[in-house]
Amino acid sequence: MASNQKIAIVSVFDKTGLLDLTKGLVQQNVRILASGGTARMIRESGFPVEDVSAITKAPEMLAGRVKTLHPAVHAGILARDLASDEKDLAEQNISKVDYVICNLYPFKDTVAKVNVSVPEAVEEIDIGGVTLIRAAAKNHKRVTILSDPADYAGFLKELEAGEISETSRNRYALKAFEHTADYDSAISDFFRKEYASDGDQYLALRYGANPHQKPAAAFTAEGKLPFKVLGGAPGYINLLDALNAWPLVKELKQALGLPAAASFKHVSPAGAAIGTPLSEDEKKVYFVNDIEGIDSSPLAQAYARARGADRMSSFGDMIALSDVVDKATASIISKEVSDGVIAPGYDDAALEILKKKKGGRYLVLQIDPEYNPTGTETRTVYGISLQQHRNDYLVSPKSFTKVITPKAGTLSEAAARDLTVATITLKYTQSNSVCYAVNGQVIGLGAGQQSRIHCTRLAGDKADNWWMRFHERVLGLKWKKGTKRADKSNAIDLLVSGQLPKDGIEREGFEAVFEEVPAAFTSEEREAWMKQLKDVAVSSDAFFPFIDNVFRAARSGVKYIAAPSGSQNDGPVFDTAEKLGITFVEQNIRLFHH
Ligand code: 5GP
Repeated sequence: MASNQKIAIVSVFDKTGLLDLTKGLVQQNVRILASGGTARMIRESGFPVEDVSAITKAPEMLAGRVKTLHPAVHAGILARDLASDEKDLAEQNISKVDYVICNLYPFKDTVAKVNVSVPEAVEEIDIGGVTLIRAAAKNHKRVTILSDPADYAGFLKELEAGEISETSRNRYALKAFEHTADYDSAISDFFRKEYASDGDQYLALRYGANPHQKPAAAFTAEGKLPFKVLGGAPGYINLLDALNAWPLVKELKQALGLPAAASFKHVSPAGAAIGTPLSEDEKKVYFVNDIEGIDSSPLAQAYARARGADRMSSFGDMIALSDVVDKATASIISKEVSDGVIAPGYDDAALEILKKKKGGRYLVLQIDPEYNPTGTETRTVYGISLQQHRNDYLVSPKSFTKVITPKAGTLSEAAARDLTVATITLKYTQSNSVCYAVNGQVIGLGAGQQSRIHCTRLAGDKADNWWMRFHERVLGLKWKKGTKRADKSNAIDLLVSGQLPKDGIEREGFEAVFEEVPAAFTSEEREAWMKQLKDVAVSSDAFFPFIDNVFRAARSGVKYIAAPSGSQNDGPVFDTAEKLGITFVEQNIRLFHH
């Protein structure tokens, strides 16, 4: 053997292109050492090849479990061009390896088969191959690692021309690291399902966003899931809601020091609030005037507000509560159509009530309140991984100190509180979004619209509907006995939004729920009542590009606006606010959420 002869170790499961590669290596006078099956194929084709055992002086053993695992192989791969490494090799009579060509046992294909057993899967866990690849990739400064047959042709072209460039070695090394990482994650995915599917670390879901999207699962690769399922079985969207709603209420409580609640639907809040005492009218509007203990439970008050803001949108909600759930809060939930709840804990009476809901299928999740997610978020969309730093900016009343329109007045404590509620809510709302808040609660949220003015209008219309529900004619509605809560909410929505059906079966349906059918609101009635809505706070997840947003907000009793600056139209937007007597505060951070 000429001392400067290059050495390749070849050990491939997928033998695609192996003979062409061998031919090229032989033409370049490369010494080929190969593992059992690989050597056999090369030999049978008439090319010169030695078994790896020629350098290890040890046979393959344990039915192939140990083939290339040996210092003669790995020291040869890992040695650097350093005098000390050369000395170590010389003492052990080991030659440097220049090229490693290796691909792994088909673990993924094996475990993709139905009913594969653990022993079958275990046999497909490649050890020596991963070690070869990792060692060669680690030492890519000197060694070339080929882990993909698609790279053989390019490699041979470079080899024929002289040497493998640094750029190619780097690229092949990266590919090799990706290959072993993907392989390892396939193995851990398999064993997570086998050994941790009790819900501790891995939770199989019935399906994904839609019933045909199977299989579906929730899991964490780091430790345990931060929540326990106390009742029911979560769905994919339930978890999306819960994992957005929980941080919202946690942050609200942290920022304002009061228990908080959120009511989510389709990954946006329908309502969110902190617990402040409810007036008798509020209790009526939110359908909670019969809830025992509500006056002494800020958590129940918070949920009454969150649920009451937009009752139609909250139908079938996923609820998040910042505190241990008490009987009063559970009593409200028990009366509403809802999918599930996430909270740090439940007292016995509350859990008993919730576990009975939906015939025992009501989803009850207990979150570890100390859980803190990692700083990096990764998701896959259409096969591509997207990664970002988590939005860990914390909103608090202190976020609203820079008043841009001082002539319109300063910010009251209540206004700073309401802007905090609105802004934290936006942080967990699908963008674009605009939120109206008053009395420590959301009263109108415009989510997921492509244009800002449509968010402002949508949220404003919802805020108007919310306020119209306090009109004495709505408070005094005479319902037919036995009318369901949801039917009442739907009829009220038709009435307050001015969408009353005029005739036909729709009209009959509307009238059917009333003892006394209410007349539509006249525009005079509406205007007079809307004038009484005051001191509303509005937050926007990004700047207002046009003044129309300010005009629309002003129509719904808005006195305070918080939004980031940065629009070319900032000047006119601020001027318009000032002219309308609206205090405009800069909220420095854009809060898009997707
Ligand atoms: P062959 O067909 O050459 O017998 O085996 C090739 C396969 O063996 C490759 O997929 C390679 O990753 C794997 N391999 C190489 N060395 C070892 C080893 O020492 N132990 C195990 N379990 N697999 C190895």
